Amino acid sequence: HGWLSLRNVQKVYDPLGKATVAVDGCSIEIRPGEFCAIVGPSGCGKSTLLNAVAGFDTITDGEILLDGECINSTKIMPKPGPDRIVVFQHGALFPWATVLENMIRGPIVQGKMTKAQATKRARELLAQVGLSTIEDRYPAGMSSGMCRRVEIVRALMNDPRVILLDEPFRGLDALTKTVVHNALLDMYEMNRKTVLFITHDLEEAIYLADRVLVMTTRPGSIKQTIFVDLPRP
Ligand code: ADP
Ligand code: ADP
Repeated sequence: HGWLSLRNVQKVYDPLGKATVAVDGCSIEIRPGEFCAIVGPSGCGKSTLLNAVAGFDTITDGEILLDGECINSTKIMPKPGPDRIVVFQHGALFPWATVLENMIRGPIVQGKMTKAQATKRARELLAQVGLSTIEDRYPAGMSSGMCRRVEIVRALMNDPRVILLDEPFRGLDALTKTVVHNALLDMYEMNRKTVLFITHDLEEAIYLADRVLVMTTRPGSIKQTIFVDLPRP
């Protein structure tokens, strides 16, 4: 589970007739359980690509398949779903809820788990990453690094096929980043979900990912995706 195929994906934004080619001719295969990073400068189209995979936005040509099923094309209307969880750069924990309540809310609201099942699963996940002691804390009382760690484990509650991370660590200080990077790697080692991680930080991409794809923009808005395979240190 979690095999992603992007075939010749194109996205042209066309507000008021002024076209911007954000992504063009992008073909990528991401194998189940692979941790893949896409790195590239600001404006090269990373978020556009991730939003298309997440189902937040349409594409203007090509197709995106998940486990062989088309989830986005000019004929298939994309829609987000719990099989593709996104962790964003800006925190998304409910401020009025404790860590445990934040973890269990999604699957309960979606009717996927009972409260007892969700609580059991949440405690397992928190224990995996050494966060058991903070289950009763509120986000406001936690550092941003700690919040990000909770968001990452929360993404596993629904047993997604793919985890999409859109610059989740931007704005964290260097030391906190190191801690959260290692928490993400621990989570990945234990669960082996397909991860698509986008960042403008090459060093971060190399440190975290099994495979790093570099996305570039040439003058004239011609997009090119170059594949570079880098071994994990
Ligand atoms: P990145 O995530 O790599 O910084 P984006 O995907 O955000 O790149 O943007 C790619 C290009 O598409 C940029 O030129 C950006 O200005 C443009 N763009 C992004 N979103 C929109 C939008 N909603 N409408 C018009 N242009 C957009
Ligand atoms: P995107 O990659 O989605 O296009 P932008 O480059 O538009 O992102 O930046 C989004 C926001 O993040 C902006 O408000 C920008 O000032 C801020 N930002 C950009 N680079 C950094 C950084 N290295 N650290 C913290 N904030 C940053």
